Amino acid sequence: MSKLVFFLLLATFSQVFSYFLMHYYVQPGDTLFSISKSLSVSISTILDWNDLRDPRKLRIGEEIIFPIPDGVIYKVEKGDTLESIALRFFTTTSLLKAANSLTTDVIYEGQKLFVPTEIMGMAFNDSSKFIWPVYGIISSGYGWRIHPITKKWSFHTGVDIAAPLGSPVFAADDGVVKFAGKNGGYGNMILIDHGKYQTAYGHLSKMDVFVGEYVKRGRLIGRVGSTGISTGPHLHFEVRIYGKHTNPLVYLPSPRKMYVLKEEEKWMGGE
Ligand SMILES: [Zn+2]
Repeated sequence: MSKLVFFLLLATFSQVFSYFLMHYYVQPGDTLFSISKSLSVSISTILDWNDLRDPRKLRIGEEIIFPIPDGVIYKVEKGDTLESIALRFFTTTSLLKAANSLTTDVIYEGQKLFVPTEIMGMAFNDSSKFIWPVYGIISSGYGWRIHPITKKWSFHTGVDIAAPLGSPVFAADDGVVKFAGKNGGYGNMILIDHGKYQTAYGHLSKMDVFVGEYVKRGRLIGRVGSTGISTGPHLHFEVRIYGKHTNPLVYLPSPRKMYVLKEEEKWMGGE
């Protein structure tokens, strides 16, 4: 029996506002890649919605949920506005409102907003070697500093970008995931290999990739968190050349130009 028939037999629908939630049960031979292909859902969405024990070894019968259209939930944090959330997803307020059938700009803490994958990333600044993996404020630069926790003079091997818990983290460039897991003070960390360069993403609250996976530039790879040695939600971002850390700011657009909006029309469904 084909995957599609299984899908039709086993999937159940439930409408939740602006998306349908699908339930799929893992069949013998399924992999994340095959499920992603046959059900037309991105791997990042599957991993973002499901706490899979090991994304490389799915268990038969294991339930996987995902929304149609493809997308993720963002839970509104204190101080968030629709505009600040739109910036973090590199999209626009109007698209975010449309995706959630909102008629006003009023949102509340704890509210769950749906962000379709299709509207994410339209405002990446693509002008440098890497794109900014998170939209936020640089809270600590690369180089010598007094460590905020140990209070000792120490070398900071990346830049810290402060952003609310659950903010999306995007791949700075195309590459292969070399590591995704707990790594001491880094907490949950992802390491992406781009050949000569590698990028590392620390303190994540969620990881939406698996080791060995090829990811495209701008792909959602996880969420901002405060895991490991951290004073609050932020992304620790490193750029390494042949494994040796270097100043990420050299390879990124100006921090004042993290967000560059291209024309909105082509994202509004006009093919
Ligand atoms: Zn750091």
